Amino acid sequence: MRIAVVGAGISGLTCAHRLAARGHEVVVYEAGAAVGGRMRTVVKEGLAVDVGANLLLANYDRLHALAAELGIADTLFAFEAGSGGILRDDELTSFTPKSAFDVLRYRGVSFASRMQLLRYFLRATAWTASLDFFDLSVGDDADEGRDAHAVVTERLGGEVADYLVDPFVRTFHFHGSHEISMKAFDALAALFVGRDGFVPTGFRGFMSALPQALAAGLDVRLGKVIRSVRPAAVAAPASGGVRVDGEAYDRVVLAVPAPIALGMLEGGAAPMRTLLAATRYAATLDVAFRVPLSVAEDFEGIWVPFRESVVISECANDACKGCHDGTDCVFTMGLHAETGSHWLDRSDEAIFHDVALEWARLFPRYAGHLRGLHVERWPHAIPIYSPDHVAGVRAFLARTDGAGQGAGGVYLCGDFLNHPWVEGSIRSGEKVASWIEQSSA
Ligand SMILES: Cc1cc2nc3c(=O)[nH]c(=O)nc-3n(C[C@H](O)[C@H](O)[C@H](O)COP(=O)(O)OP(=O)(O)OC[C@H]3O[C@@H](n4cnc5c(N)ncnc54)[C@H](O)[C@@H]3O)c2cc1C
Repeated sequence: MRIAVVGAGISGLTCAHRLAARGHEVVVYEAGAAVGGRMRTVVKEGLAVDVGANLLLANYDRLHALAAELGIADTLFAFEAGSGGILRDDELTSFTPKSAFDVLRYRGVSFASRMQLLRYFLRATAWTASLDFFDLSVGDDADEGRDAHAVVTERLGGEVADYLVDPFVRTFHFHGSHEISMKAFDALAALFVGRDGFVPTGFRGFMSALPQALAAGLDVRLGKVIRSVRPAAVAAPASGGVRVDGEAYDRVVLAVPAPIALGMLEGGAAPMRTLLAATRYAATLDVAFRVPLSVAEDFEGIWVPFRESVVISECANDACKGCHDGTDCVFTMGLHAETGSHWLDRSDEAIFHDVALEWARLFPRYAGHLRGLHVERWPHAIPIYSPDHVAGVRAFLARTDGAGQGAGGVYLCGDFLNHPWVEGSIRSGEKVASWIEQSSA
């Protein structure tokens, strides 16, 4: 088959790689000047900045398999563990739960809250077999129809909700825990207490290493913004004839964020359009600074609760990945969605100024020491895995009436299909490739 993949992020590239390996003729269209999408590295003033995904976990099984296939598995390494933790009342409290009992050492909340947490994490060990954070369609959860903030406040108390669960969700998703489904949070907790726990790793060649290795074996057309995808008649989904900017393909994979997919889709099956229209994202900015090594403290990551700052949600010290030039290292800061969504149109200079000022308010030792390096704007940073979204995707993917995946020869692909983060996106790409393969059998 002739197959077009729109979007050279990690989901689209993985899908294209699997399809090309099965002998299909695959063309990947990418709007940007480089591959990787939200898994991309830029080099500024000789320093590498991972502008989207910042870390990979040791338990990303599909990522490890792919890296081995592409011959880059030996460039994966575990970050040098520095200190770090959660900010509360000007104090940083370390939190690195590698097992359920580690939560007892988290001194940022009261002893009573810690005992509640221990109970919760011990329960989470039972979910490791049934829930899967990288495929939220899998498994059932008694609380899946409710949001994490409400359930945690009710069961574990407001302190745990505001000073642990909310910052945790915001560090990785930039929006508050009131927007994420309890099922997604339970699955995340199960990931923490499961095999390998939370061991941050990366590629020696930084995040772009994997997308670039995938793209090397594919026909990727960079700088090509696709504007129109016209599905084949829905009544004849297998007959081919999908038009991508006027060119005919047998199948097309839309591996772009949902609002962009909806914008290019002309017509198409109603359930697909409804799902795309209902998918919401948290926006953020990734703001990178040069920081003198003599000033930078030895930490790996700091989570900033919304109650402490409405601007900065987290800061990663990329020195833990070996990112420094002997004089300076790189700090990358993510912004809370509430602020990020309003700052997308501001100038880099204004953003550097205000974020540096806020960081110095939180940590006075950095006043005057942060030099702006790069700003990346992410209007569609992370899909919001709300209770409605998780259930809606699950129902869409389960359709067997020809109006779901593959309707009119069009397949959706990416993290918004209940497949969070890089590992989830890889799984989405692999799943779509195997559905397309089955559709041609
Ligand atoms: C700031 C940030 C931090 C993150 N941190 C982590 C982390 O530490 N660990 C982790 O595992 N995950 C992290 N994630 C999530 C992870 O990066 C994403 O889940 C994953 O990369 C999504 O991949 P994708 O292929 O689904 O989409 P994308 O990467 O968004 O790929 C879509 C591609 O489509 C292209 N495109 C868009 N419009 C068009 C068009 N009209 N025509 C052609 N091409 C088009 C885009 O340029 C892009 O390359 C983070 C995300 C962000 C934003």
